[in-house]
Parts: sequence; C-alpha cells; structure tokens
Amino acid sequence: MDKLIITAAVTGGVTTRNDNENLPITPKEIAQAVYDCWNAGASIAHIHARNITGEPSTNVDTYQEIVSRIREKCNILINLTTTGWKLPKGEENARWEHLKLRPDLATFTPGSMNRGESININSPDFLKKLATKIKEYNAKPEIEIFDYGMIIQTLNLARNGLISEPFLFQLVLGVNGGISASHKNLINLVENLPQNSTWFAAAIGKNQLPINLQGIMMGGHVRTGLEDNVYYRYKELALSNAQLVERLANYSYDFGRDIATPEEARRILGLNNNVLSSSA
Ligand code: ZN
Repeated sequence: MDKLIITAAVTGGVTTRNDNENLPITPKEIAQAVYDCWNAGASIAHIHARNITGEPSTNVDTYQEIVSRIREKCNILINLTTTGWKLPKGEENARWEHLKLRPDLATFTPGSMNRGESININSPDFLKKLATKIKEYNAKPEIEIFDYGMIIQTLNLARNGLISEPFLFQLVLGVNGGISASHKNLINLVENLPQNSTWFAAAIGKNQLPINLQGIMMGGHVRTGLEDNVYYRYKELALSNAQLVERLANYSYDFGRDIATPEEARRILGLNNNVLSSSA
C-alpha cells in the first residue's frame, strides 16, 4: 500500500460556529488550522473561503489571503473548492476565478443533485467550462463523487476529452441525497472506479471515522475535518481539525501504514503541476 494521504477539510461551506465554536472562519484562522493539521500529518488542505459574516464566499482576495498565509507556513498541497452549493447567487465564473491562485488541486463534482431542500447544480455546460479552467490553471481535478451515477458521468466527460486519466476521486458518503455511508457502499464505489484511479474516503457526521478507517484498511486515502463532522466522538465536539487528523494518523501508523508527507503525496498523486506555485 502507498503511504496514507490525509486531506484536512477544515471549514467547508455549511458548518457554523453554532455547530462547533472551534470552526476556523477568517483567512488567518483557516491558515492556522491548516498549519496545525499539517503538523498532525495532513498533506492536503481542502479550502472554502467565508466572508466576514461567515457565509460561503468566492471572493478572490479572500482566497488569496488564505493561500498566501498557508504557503508562508508550510508546504501542504492546496485543494480549492469550486462548489456552487450554498453560494450566494451570482456569475458562474465566480466558481473558478480563484483558480488563478494555482492550487495543486481543484474540486470537480461531475453532476447535480438535490441535497436536502436545496440543489447542487453542475450542468453539463458548466462542467465543460470548469474542466477547461482547471486545465488552464494546471490544477488536478479532485473528482467528488456523491453517488454512483457520478462515476458514470466522469467516464462520459473523459470520453469527450474534458478530463483525463489517471483520475483522483474523493468519495463522499452520507450526504443527504447521495449514497449512504455504509461499508458495502464504499466497497461498491471503489470496485466501480476505473483502474489506476486514486481515491479518498470521506463521510458526513458520525460516519466519518468508520469510513475513514475502512479507507485506510482498503489502501485508499482519507479526508477528515470539521467540514464533514464537528464531533470527536458521541456527544463530544472536536477541539480542532488537527485533533481529527492526529487520530487518523495514529490509527494508520498503528495499523502499519505510514503517513505521506506533502512531497510524497505529490508523487503518489502524480502531481508535477504548480510545483513552483508558491511564487504564483
Ligand atoms: Zn468542500
């Protein structure tokens, strides 16, 4: 098995300070949380920006401040979200303008879905534009899979030349409206990925840890953090993102699987893009 890559999803676009007062919101707080996660064993930081009132934001200056502050502190790989879910209504190009900051990775959700009472819209036309922009900025798409059909959509997009192998998948189980978080479902998703794919396992709420552990045992990689889950254990809120990262690093180490550094993660994922990104 490759060494384990841990992605820290420190903020997201949904969790609030009411859910967990330790959630980082400002660029300074987000950068500090990422740095603490890097110290705890994370090699990728998955980033969403928020505005001053804590709402999701596409403001490029805010992203710039977050990215600069992180790059001043450590060499963690940077993965910027391109989600439109829960964003204020506006120009769709606001979803990719921040990619000019040259992240190592950018999320790419290959389909639309109802999430609870709202819709996460990623039309075929939008996906063509987004895939083109991700290529233009030399980021690798992290293909976020919320349900089985999105694997099929990935293959359709690849046939049209919009994305290319080897793919990197983030399998997110347990989203309200997506595939439920069960061990059988994770096995099923992984068995249906194209060969040579790399994959991460993530899940929402109380399913985060069991799905992460399964991912470690199956040879995949993992995503943890307050974006997906605010608890450390039943009825006990997490003290920080780093606390969640550190637990996974310890479990993996005890299981016999070492943790990848950012440079090792870069090799495992085949990233030779944006190596000089700190000067961008
Ligand atoms: Zn996210």
